[in-house]
Amino acid sequence: MIYTSTRDSSVKVTASEAIAKGISSEGGLFVPTEIPRLESSDIERLCSLDYIGRAKEILSLYLTDFTEEELDMCVNGAYREGKFSSDKVAPLYRLNDKASVLELWRGPTCAFKDMALQLLPYLLTVSAGKTLKDTEIVILVATSGDTGKAALEGFKDVPNTRILVFYPVDGVSPMQKLQMTTQQGENVSVCAIRGNFDDAQNGVKAIFTDREIEKKFKENGLAFSSANSINWGRLVPQIVYYVSAYCDMVTDGKVKQGEEINVVVPTGNFGNILAAYYAREMGVPIKRLVCASNRNNVLTDFLTCGTYDKNRRFYCTASPSMDILISSNLERLLFILSGYDAKATAGLMKELSQGGKYSVSDEMLAQIKQVFSAGCCDDVATAETINEIFKDYNYLIDTHTAVAVRVYEDYVKQSGDGTPTVIASTANPYKFSKSVLSAIKENVESKNEFSMVEELHAFSGKEVPPQLAGLKGKQPRFTRVADREEMTRVVLDMLNIND
Ligand SMILES: *Cc1c(COP(=O)(O)O)cnc(C)c1O
Repeated sequence: MIYTSTRDSSVKVTASEAIAKGISSEGGLFVPTEIPRLESSDIERLCSLDYIGRAKEILSLYLTDFTEEELDMCVNGAYREGKFSSDKVAPLYRLNDKASVLELWRGPTCAFKDMALQLLPYLLTVSAGKTLKDTEIVILVATSGDTGKAALEGFKDVPNTRILVFYPVDGVSPMQKLQMTTQQGENVSVCAIRGNFDDAQNGVKAIFTDREIEKKFKENGLAFSSANSINWGRLVPQIVYYVSAYCDMVTDGKVKQGEEINVVVPTGNFGNILAAYYAREMGVPIKRLVCASNRNNVLTDFLTCGTYDKNRRFYCTASPSMDILISSNLERLLFILSGYDAKATAGLMKELSQGGKYSVSDEMLAQIKQVFSAGCCDDVATAETINEIFKDYNYLIDTHTAVAVRVYEDYVKQSGDGTPTVIASTANPYKFSKSVLSAIKENVESKNEFSMVEELHAFSGKEVPPQLAGLKGKQPRFTRVADREEMTRVVLDMLNIND
């Protein structure tokens, strides 16, 4: 299978080149030039396999230059027994007759980023072995919380890799901060940046394109790569769980094979929902994809009106992993819907970078509306939904999942669509204890993070994931706080190439 760039049709690379590079040199994203199809007999066969078996089959359709042995090694390494707190890896929880929740947070860091970031280090090292001989890969990450920890956990002690995570010093939750600063592993480093997430992100981008550093890196046998969701190696593992969820709906008797489902996804960078779109294009019987946003509802407007406009106020919400105004992976959808037209896609992206805004044609909007519905809700509705789901079903959801549940309820009310539905659940509620606790309990007594965790546990009776409970009292390993201007220095220090 050949991959091309969303901005340059002359680009033709293999899967491993796409994964090792992360992003195409002119700034476009790598996309496979065709989408493999699953026949109903294929889906029937996948239904009889476990998660690892399903992952191997689906990944082999996309990563065609990986050998069977390589894929076996990658998938077994990522999803082997004990890594996820469910033997199904991503289990379905039946909420009611119509709706099931897909628990994507059973991995080591309790957020859905683990589903891809447990696998990416394996995919990346195999890819680098094919394309960049004798090179150590340096992963630089700017994070607003969940990606940083999941990437650290995925890459810790992976041979021939180093990972360095930058986070905004006051921009992550106390639990997220402690998760990162106590990270174990010989090849990891974490540094706080005085500034916000954009400062950290811009600093990382500046390092990626710094010619001096590139030279130093080459001399030392090093190369940069990316672990964020612009890398195809992060997107492809996410397709697997939508196919697998459909299989589980069939084997659990919630739908007959061939019967359609809807999928609802709480969305930020448009990566998770794009993976669901790929599953649908592969032939999984998905009727509609419902895109759920918080108060930063730039995608709701785009998917309903066809104009993407990031010139608007940015809100800090109770679902911070969705506080985003530029959804990078939307570029891949625009490219596919334009009929793989790189020139048209590059044009829209140029409008976005210059004026912060673009509009698509009426034809494209009609195509979008055939597949996507969209909705949004604010923090008050988010809290109400956490409370309602806890009272009605004795089930505890986090703030991001609550946005999805609320948008699903609104969608059903407006459309009357009674199709069986899978709602993606993206984080364990204890990652956002303060918001979740105050949503279900009137007088919150606790003042600090771990007393809130305990109060939430006492009140809800829900188990605290041991990997979060175990952080209590732990001493941080990484305490460095740097200015944005010092980030290059921090990278060179970490790599010991300061001459
Ligand atoms: C990253 C994240 C999201 C958003 O996912 P995208 O792929 O960026 O759309 C939603 N919820 C949680 C908890 C996340 O960490």
